[in-house]
Amino acid sequence: MSAADLLLHDGALAALRAHAAAAAPREACGLLAGPAGDAAIADEALPSPNLAPAGTEDAFEIDAALHLAAQREQRARGRRVVGIYHSHPRSAPLPSARDRAGAWDFGLVWLIVGQDGACRAWWPGPQGFVEARIVRAS
Ligand SMILES: [Zn+2]
Repeated sequence: MSAADLLLHDGALAALRAHAAAAAPREACGLLAGPAGDAAIADEALPSPNLAPAGTEDAFEIDAALHLAAQREQRARGRRVVGIYHSHPRSAPLPSARDRAGAWDFGLVWLIVGQDGACRAWWPGPQGFVEARIVRAS
């Protein structure tokens, strides 16, 4: 594990893949949560409704109220929101131009599920997204 890695538990991965499959052809989105600390550890997927306007292709918008509530609930349990996830039902798990424009919180890792279920993770930053290595855990 290095500081840039995302430790991803199988349960969280299965949950967000199921969410992505259920939401298709719309994008699915949600939050990743795990133990507090510097390491990015995701052992829980918290689905959000996609609040992007109906008819908007290839877009997602996480419910801000759900995000705030999750931050409070996780903190109360010694945990934190470590990232966000969304799906690309028609393309590879690479950040889109819209994703780049929408990334403003550089402390949250982005996990993207591609059309074939493959996942890649990215850290947003001032120079754009940098890929994070996904380390699987059961
Ligand atoms: Zn995207």
